[in-house]
This record gives sequence, C-alpha cells and structure tokens, in this order.
Amino acid sequence: MHVRTAPRRKKPFRSIAGSLLLLPHCWTPEQSSPEFICFSRLLGPTQGGHIGQRSEVCIFSRESTVNGMLTIRRPDDWHLHLRDGAIMKAVLPETVRHFARAIIMPNLVPPVVTGADATAYRERIVALLPDGADFEPLMTLYLTEETDPEDVAAAGESGLVKAVKLYPAGATTNSASGVRDVTRIQAVLEKMAEVGLPLCVHGEVTDPAVDIFDREAAFIDRVLDPIRRATPDLRVILEHITTRDGIEYVKAQNSDMGGTITAHHLAINRNHILAGGIRPHYYCLPVAKREEHRLALVSAATSGDPHFFLGTDSAPHTDRNKEQECGCAGCFTATNAISVLAELFEKEGALSRLEGFVSLHGPAFYGLRANEDTVTLAKGAPVSYPEKIMTPDGPITVFNPGFPLHWSVSRHDLNGETPTQG
Ligand SMILES: [Zn+2]
Repeated sequence: MHVRTAPRRKKPFRSIAGSLLLLPHCWTPEQSSPEFICFSRLLGPTQGGHIGQRSEVCIFSRESTVNGMLTIRRPDDWHLHLRDGAIMKAVLPETVRHFARAIIMPNLVPPVVTGADATAYRERIVALLPDGADFEPLMTLYLTEETDPEDVAAAGESGLVKAVKLYPAGATTNSASGVRDVTRIQAVLEKMAEVGLPLCVHGEVTDPAVDIFDREAAFIDRVLDPIRRATPDLRVILEHITTRDGIEYVKAQNSDMGGTITAHHLAINRNHILAGGIRPHYYCLPVAKREEHRLALVSAATSGDPHFFLGTDSAPHTDRNKEQECGCAGCFTATNAISVLAELFEKEGALSRLEGFVSLHGPAFYGLRANEDTVTLAKGAPVSYPEKIMTPDGPITVFNPGFPLHWSVSRHDLNGETPTQG
C-alpha cells in the first residue's frame, strides 16, 4: 500500500464533502481524524505489482469546502429543553434531524430530581422518538438543597445521568426549586467530583438588586469562582455564556472547566430584543447583551478553543406564552441552529472550526466518543425552514436570526448513500 495525496482528476478533491459526492464507489472510507479523512481503493492485477501494492490511498483534508459543501461529524447539543408530552412530541423531530445526542435539561414541573425521575423521563423521550430516529438523550438531574449525594452518585455510575444542573432559585423557567445557598449542596458537589460527574450551571445571580444585564458577571464572582475553589476537582460547565466576562473566565481555567454557547447568542445582541419595538421571541435568559459581548462569544466559538462547544438552549414555549404581558424566556432554535452557525462561522472565515465547536469539543469534555456518522452542509440559495412548529397547545415560533441562511444540512453516511435533506 502506498500513500499519496489526491490524484489528478477532472475535478479537484479537497474536502471530505467533495470526495463523498464525487468519488466513485470503488473508493472506500478507511480512517478519519478531525483534520483528515482517508479513502482507499483496490487496484487490479495489471495496475499493481505484488500484493503489497494492490491498494491506493488518498487523503482529503476537511479544512476546505468544495463547491460550497462541507461534511462534518454529526453534531451533538450539550444543552436542550424538550419539555414533556405533546410539546416534546412536536419538537423532538427538530432536534433528532441533525443531532445525535443532547444533554436534556431537567426543569420540568415537577423537576427531574432523582435517578428514578431521570429513568422515567428518559423512557418518555424514547417513546416519542420519530420512527427510525437515531438519537441518544443524555439525562441530567436538577440539583436542590435536598438532593441526596448517594442517589446522584448511583445515577452517574450507572451511566444513566451525564450531568447535574444547578439553577439558582428563580433564575429562569421552572427554577423555583433551585438552590438558594450553595454551601448547602457542598456534599453533593464533592460526591460528583469523586465520581466524575460534571456540574452544568445556569450562571446568573437572582438578587433583584443586580441589574439583569450584570447577573452573569456577578454570578462568576459570587458563586462560580467560590465553587471552583471549594471543589477544584469538580468538572463544571458554564452554560449559555453571554458575556466577555464569562468567556474570559472559562478561557483562563484548566480543562475541567467548559462553556457552552448558543446559536442565538452568537446571532443577536440586546438591540434585537428592544430597539424598534419589543420582540418577545428574542427574549431568553440569560438575556442577550451588548454587541461587544456578542463579538466575544463569536471570537471564542470560532477560535477552535476546546473549552467552548455548542449548547443550543433551544427552549420551546408556545406563542401564547411568549406574546403576553409577562412572556416566557427562551428561543427555539433546534430547527435551524446548524444553518445559523454555518453562516456565522463562514463569515468569520472559520468553517474549518465548525466541526470542533458542534461535534468534537463537547464529547471530549464529557469523556464520550465523537459521533462516527456525518452530516453534509451545502451552500446554495437561502434555505427555507418553517416559521412555526405546530403543537396541540399552539404554535412555537422558530428562531429568526435576522439574516438569510444559505447552508442546508443533510445526513450522509460514509458509504455515499443518498443523503436525507433536513
Ligand atoms: Zn436552558
């Protein structure tokens, strides 16, 4: 077997996407890495000499796209709200179309507090998966001041639960059972550090004296940093980072600290919510901040820094619950998050780092394997996606990034079978 770079052909092969579409079927995929994918083919007896030379290998870089196409490992969503019942049934297809796994938030009413609650919730999710769906829900527990460290440890060690979620009481949707005094959860945090179970944090203080735009920065000083110092072996994820302060904090920490960033916080700033009329479908928590903070998020997400990975925080609320005197917080992005991200990464000249952000850094943090299957992103005319997802409780508005999306996403297996559009 000899190795060489891509042979001369009618069309240049520079990316895995190009190779998948243009290589004849006699080429088969061999091995891949984040940077490269390798294909081989057998040569006939007249082309090869002896047995050691009877196959040929070509290696394609994933770095560039051919004809506006890019193939990456299938993404995961490291922060997702599925709700329950009819709403869950309506929104699940939007996630499983593109994502292989998701960290499922536990803020139901009542919340998912024990291992038994998580088992029951997981069964309800699996029962509502669309036929043929290939999706793994990664369960979490909702941390309360009464949480039993032994129950958490057992749920973690059994593999059922992949993280525990800290909501400061009153911080966001259904967080009334959250934690008021973090010193009261210290025994649970120590147990989690011992068994290697990560803590996901909603990083906002709920002190009414703190301005809503300053609540993330205040949380880092008052809660997050003390937790890190008191329990240095605990793996912690600062979720849905919205500020430069959050980015700088996570960046300065070791590999036991991660940070998720949503698609919508990369796309909008607070003007989108408030300037020229109030736009309830852009209101979420943590609330979007000034443009300088959005730029810090974009810079971190597109930098290739493995501290940062995608957690969409896709959060379905019906229009009736968003568009009222006291509207709910949350943006529903499951439908188009990957297209939004492709557009933003392309604008930054960072498409080659999209795979790290959506498909590689998250599994690495959680100690899981990256997905073996792939999706192909293709650039073309603006993509159409539904404005609303219909549910028996009423419509849910899909996030509108405010700019056209040109990247469509297709599932594609490595044998070059026909992709399914999504
Ligand atoms: Zn959330």
